[in-house]
Amino acid sequence: MEMEKQRTAFGLIAHPVGHSLSPVMHNRAFTYLRLPYHYHSFDVRPEQLKEAVQALKVLRVGGVNVSIPHKETIIPYLDEIDEEALTIGAVNTIVINENNKLKGYNTDGEGYVLSLQKEKQIDIKEQHVVILGAGGAAKGIAVYLLKHGCLSITIANRTLHKAEQMTETLRAYAKKAKLSKNIAAKSLDELQTTGFKQYTLIINTTSVGMWPHVEAVPISLTNVQPNCIVSDIVYNPLKTAFLKQAEALGCIIHEGVGMFVHQGALAFEKFTGIEAPVDMMHEVVIQHLMAKEE
Ligand code: NAP
Repeated sequence: MEMEKQRTAFGLIAHPVGHSLSPVMHNRAFTYLRLPYHYHSFDVRPEQLKEAVQALKVLRVGGVNVSIPHKETIIPYLDEIDEEALTIGAVNTIVINENNKLKGYNTDGEGYVLSLQKEKQIDIKEQHVVILGAGGAAKGIAVYLLKHGCLSITIANRTLHKAEQMTETLRAYAKKAKLSKNIAAKSLDELQTTGFKQYTLIINTTSVGMWPHVEAVPISLTNVQPNCIVSDIVYNPLKTAFLKQAEALGCIIHEGVGMFVHQGALAFEKFTGIEAPVDMMHEVVIQHLMAKEE
């Protein structure tokens, strides 16, 4: 039998792919570790997705990251999907094995948790969490916070019924994983009225505050606990107006860039089986983002 040649190509499939920092982050990590690999950008339109997946197999690509708009629609083309990605209903990382079988993962939520633990030394098991937003990123983060044993989670969203739908998914996951948790839904308006007194970890996962609307905040922080942690997963700008507001109130702030780096590092490790040079990847991303902000 012919020996399998090493798979040296990796990449990102998205549409458009233009502004992603994933190629530079992965390629610099490959070079740093002297790995003979390359990470490509594949601009794939929605109607080309099926053929693109076939092409990945033919071209012996070793794995890809998946971004908007394919994170959900690629699922039917996978041979296997891990349990958390199935619950989240979206994949951002696919590993292609020597038999051309595709396995999907979602590293966003775990990347968030790792970033919080490593950068802020936070014990997830002590947290009462409120997540602003009920989109794809919120779901990934919520599933991994539950998995890591947070005490409670409230989903607060502009559109209440989406928060309610998400809490149903989270309750089903918690029940299956035998986690007994308090999981609730609120509208952002209700949260604005009740304030943040009961929460120790506040996470913005809405897109509010992203460049170019850098002065916008998703909600006004009121009644926050002393030593409360405020996270924003928006990382362009690096420090959002929401984080500046939190800092002025004396909260511990956690920037979104760490989540981006750690989701990439987890994907890198699944692709290569080698520990990712996280600090170096972090530096590359920060350099690029700072150059954009100048
Ligand atoms: P998504 O699925 O489209 O969800 C967007 C969420 O933002 C929804 O809950 C939406 O509420 C809310 N929202 C949008 N505009 C709003 C406004 N003006 N006021 C209040 N709420 C608003 O997006 P996603 O994929 O979850 O991504 C969300 C953000 O996270 C993006 O900025 C993305 O760049 C960032 N992100 C960062 C990382 C990282 O690695 N740091 C990873 C993934 C995503 P409705 O339901 O009411 O519309």
